[in-house]
Amino acid sequence: MSYDSNNIFARILRGEIPCRKVDEDAHTLSFHDINPLAPTHVLVVPKGEYRDVTDFADRASDAEIAALFRAAARVAKAQGVEGAGYRVLANCGADAHQEVPHLHLHVFGGRPLGAMLKRAK
Ligand code: AMP
Repeated sequence: MSYDSNNIFARILRGEIPCRKVDEDAHTLSFHDINPLAPTHVLVVPKGEYRDVTDFADRASDAEIAALFRAAARVAKAQGVEGAGYRVLANCGADAHQEVPHLHLHVFGGRPLGAMLKRAK
């Protein structure tokens, strides 16, 4: 599947749409989710055009991959959730309900987050 360069995060990265930025470096931009599901809900986005984890692992440089995880840890620290705990999650594809087809890590925290998934019936 090819990358859709008109997705909402690509437009944020190009500065066409505003975001509430919390962190930025050469390879990543992090901003508050517009519809937060926890007191801390930040999206950590690579600046390169990657659809999901598979695409990122296939094509990104080692520096880009390291930068994404370092950004997630930096965000968790800066948001004050590192001590109590936090969750980093990436939805990939239809079964995971990925809405925006540009790789992003969700960083959730600020309250007990519950079980990772509901048990299947
Ligand atoms: P996912 O289902 O993993 O693709 O998650 C997409 C996330 O992007 C959702 O949590 C949305 O609330 C969030 N989102 C969509 N549009 C924006 C936006 N303009 N700014 C910040 N977050 C957004």
